[in-house]
Amino acid sequence: MVRVIRNGKRTYPRAGRLRELAIIAGMICGWRRNNAPSPLERIGKYLPSCLDEPSRRFGMYLARRKLERDLNFQEVPGSHTRLSPVVGSRAHELALVRNALAENPVLEEFERQLYQAQNWHILRYDQKAEIDALAGHLFASYINKYGNCGLTPDNAVAFRESKDPNAHYCGDVIPYDAEHIQNTWRVYAIVYPHPNPGAAYDYGRYQPVDIIKFHEFMHVEERTKEVPDHRCSPGIEIMTMLKSVMLLDEIHKKVNGIALNGVVDYGRFIRIGDVVQPLGCVTNVYRLLEKEHGSLGAAVTCPESLHYLKLGAFRDTAFSMRGDSMAAFQQRPVQLVPCAG
Ligand SMILES: [Zn+2]
Repeated sequence: MVRVIRNGKRTYPRAGRLRELAIIAGMICGWRRNNAPSPLERIGKYLPSCLDEPSRRFGMYLARRKLERDLNFQEVPGSHTRLSPVVGSRAHELALVRNALAENPVLEEFERQLYQAQNWHILRYDQKAEIDALAGHLFASYINKYGNCGLTPDNAVAFRESKDPNAHYCGDVIPYDAEHIQNTWRVYAIVYPHPNPGAAYDYGRYQPVDIIKFHEFMHVEERTKEVPDHRCSPGIEIMTMLKSVMLLDEIHKKVNGIALNGVVDYGRFIRIGDVVQPLGCVTNVYRLLEKEHGSLGAAVTCPESLHYLKLGAFRDTAFSMRGDSMAAFQQRPVQLVPCAG
């Protein structure tokens, strides 16, 4: 300790400075003590405290994957989750059709004309057994393209059979859009007895169940996994309905020994403006275009198809007509095969 004697008084200058320093150091330590991090915070500095969130998400992911397996068609017939190879497999075709539809209102009218109950009722009821056998075969061969993922005609679409052997069936695809743990995204395709069998039903005609299944199955193929699609969106029934009538036409011809390129008069017409096409011509035109373009989406949207719908002309004039009545059509040099029965 340095002692200085000034004017007879003893003073300690270094000790004073040390006291000041001690006071400042105490103030700093006190502040740090009051704002000290908790032991958990100190650990969190080295182990990220956000670990909780990923583990919660991972748990959700595992639960969802389990639901996606448990709710898929192998377990629940007709139900297709994100794991189903069917969902979205033909979504690009629907996108093509929708793009074309935005610029060609003729497609909107085509859809309205196609999507009528009467177009379903073109087969003869008394040929039910042969029709069912062929329809079953057509559906089974169509789904074959999904290889060995466990898809069968029985689990591809759910079927609620009626006890009434003469029941009339209809189908639907129900979306479960909400993406959360209890309600994992999926679509459910089902064919069930018509709630009002008398409505718009032409007795004496038969609508095979397997072609309704085929139709609903196509809706599943055309639906994207990302965007929830609504049942009544424009363009959604063009390809499904077109394919349905093409298949019914094919079945009728096979059962009755008519050549596939023959034109059958079903008494049904597609009327777009003043262009009227017998359904039996429309089926032939699109069967040809589908074969040439490799897909129904490309067939519907190709320039030749749009030209046909707008003007009623397609290559060989035997497929074409303009007019507003059956009489006008009958005057055309088209060989019609009557659909008797
Ligand atoms: Zn449909």
